[in-house]
Amino acid sequence: MEESKMQTESANFIEQAIKEDLAAGNCPKKIHTRFPPEPNGYLHIGHAKSICLNFGIANEFGGITNLRFDDTNPTKEDTEYVDSIKEDVKWLGFTWDDRQFYASNYFDRLYEYAKLLIQKGRAYVDDQSMEQIKESRGDFSKPGTNSPYRDRSVEENLQLFEDMKAGKYQDGEKVLRAKIDMADPNIVMRDPVLYRIMHATHHRTGDTWCIYPMYDFAHPVSDAIEGITHSLCTLEFEVHRPLYNWVLEEWPADYKPRQIEFARLNITNMVMSKRKLRQLVEAQIVDGWDDPRMPTISGLRRRGYTPEAIRDFCQRIGIAKADSVVDVALLESCIRDDLKMKAPRSMVVIDPVKVVITNYPEGQTEMVTLENNQENESMGTRQVPFGREIYIEQNDFMEVPVRKFFRMTPGKEVRLKGAYIVMCNEVIKNEDGTIKEIHCTYDPETHSGSGCTRKVKGTLHWVEASQAVPMEVREYDYLLQTEDDQAGSKDFMEQINPHSLTIHQSLGEPLFSQTKPGDHYQFLRQGYFVTDTTSKPEHIVMNRIVGLRDTWAKKQKKAQEAKA
Ligand code: ATP
Ligand code: MG
Repeated sequence: MEESKMQTESANFIEQAIKEDLAAGNCPKKIHTRFPPEPNGYLHIGHAKSICLNFGIANEFGGITNLRFDDTNPTKEDTEYVDSIKEDVKWLGFTWDDRQFYASNYFDRLYEYAKLLIQKGRAYVDDQSMEQIKESRGDFSKPGTNSPYRDRSVEENLQLFEDMKAGKYQDGEKVLRAKIDMADPNIVMRDPVLYRIMHATHHRTGDTWCIYPMYDFAHPVSDAIEGITHSLCTLEFEVHRPLYNWVLEEWPADYKPRQIEFARLNITNMVMSKRKLRQLVEAQIVDGWDDPRMPTISGLRRRGYTPEAIRDFCQRIGIAKADSVVDVALLESCIRDDLKMKAPRSMVVIDPVKVVITNYPEGQTEMVTLENNQENESMGTRQVPFGREIYIEQNDFMEVPVRKFFRMTPGKEVRLKGAYIVMCNEVIKNEDGTIKEIHCTYDPETHSGSGCTRKVKGTLHWVEASQAVPMEVREYDYLLQTEDDQAGSKDFMEQINPHSLTIHQSLGEPLFSQTKPGDHYQFLRQGYFVTDTTSKPEHIVMNRIVGLRDTWAKKQKKAQEAKA
């Protein structure tokens, strides 16, 4: 353990608990955690929090982390999800070495352990249906009632459980239940179901089994088998903790893993549940799990997020014991911070309008020099062609300017980035009144860097027409118009933003002819962009990651000013 590092970082309550366990000799010296996804969908940013926590904590204490697929529900799980989960964890920068496990690896041992519980009089086979069991559970104010099958003999229970395994019963005909207390104030403890019958083919064990352990049984046992020291899970499992411990009471080992709960990550304007994300995919509101609007790790990756930015985000949100909703602006701030020094600057005109510089010689072009990143000089400079015909942004021109419009407007001068000052003289319209082209003249004395001291208020980005590279620019907005209503009083499908994707036919400077999927850029004055995974030289597709304006920093500043 790096003692010095631990002292300088303010430890969260989980680190604190582990330190205490270590100091008191309550746990093995090698800290061992696990990340236990259910392979029933793609991972989302909430999982990233859990991944960073589990791998991060183990790493901090010199320990190790297992990747364990919690594959106990064969009807919902698939190897496609297993593969995507592995890819995402790796991409985030974490490694589980050879410790890739499945709860299904332990089906035999789980079965044997269930038999042991039966032998100890701690589990019984119940013939009631799931509805009857639910009904007899009681509620917060009413204790549950015992099943009429609760007092079966050990021998009968063992026989019935074996028969369940042998496939003698249909789905739902029987279950194995823990024999705890139907009057326990904690409803979770009222004889929870440990095993159910499901005649379904499992993606790994095939048709070997027709009974499957419930999560509450499989999870603690899997943890114990793997020698997990600290089992970190989200808050909704807090009420399950007594059951977690109960399940392991008969487990033959000195050390039993300790469950510690932390708050689930929620982010404004994002849905954070695989079930809901699947709904979006199936209703074709998005074009797959990796749609750049999705909060999945694969969606964020395609959107242009970097592992560094996501890890930084998880670090910055911290670990808390109370649920909260994080402002999506913080996530956006993290990717800006990461790309600020890394992403080369470039000029792309997203919604172009043509400008003709009437006093510039026809057929001539020249190269002008632009910095690749004014915040990071080591990225050098590049040459960009300039000529008689260029494009600028439609919204950088106003025929009748509003107040404080310092861009292009008739009779006013404006600077073209890295090139010259131009004066707008005339607007040529199409028959329908739309602008065909704008005519300007340039002043050859005003080349950038020539020492010209003439001041103009606006500087525009532009692209030379003859060498402009056509591209499709996809601009994204949030999928949800409001924060996801976690309480579920409103259907999230009704909050879907109908304008979450806007497609532009744009023009970029020549460097874009060489772009490859995954390349990051800052488009000057526009934001950060990434080349989409589907992009090809003959059809370039760029995704907007975020705009340039840091609303998070702004909000922080406002909050501080309010305090002062
Ligand atoms: P979902 O409701 O999205 O399906 P889940 O909890 O069912 O999530 P699992 O695959 O079972 O998904 O989760 C694997 C691990 O990730 C668990 O330890 C779980 O607690 C954690 N996790 C899931 N969602 C979040 C979240 N929003 N914030 C933090 N951790 C999460
Ligand atoms: Mg789950």
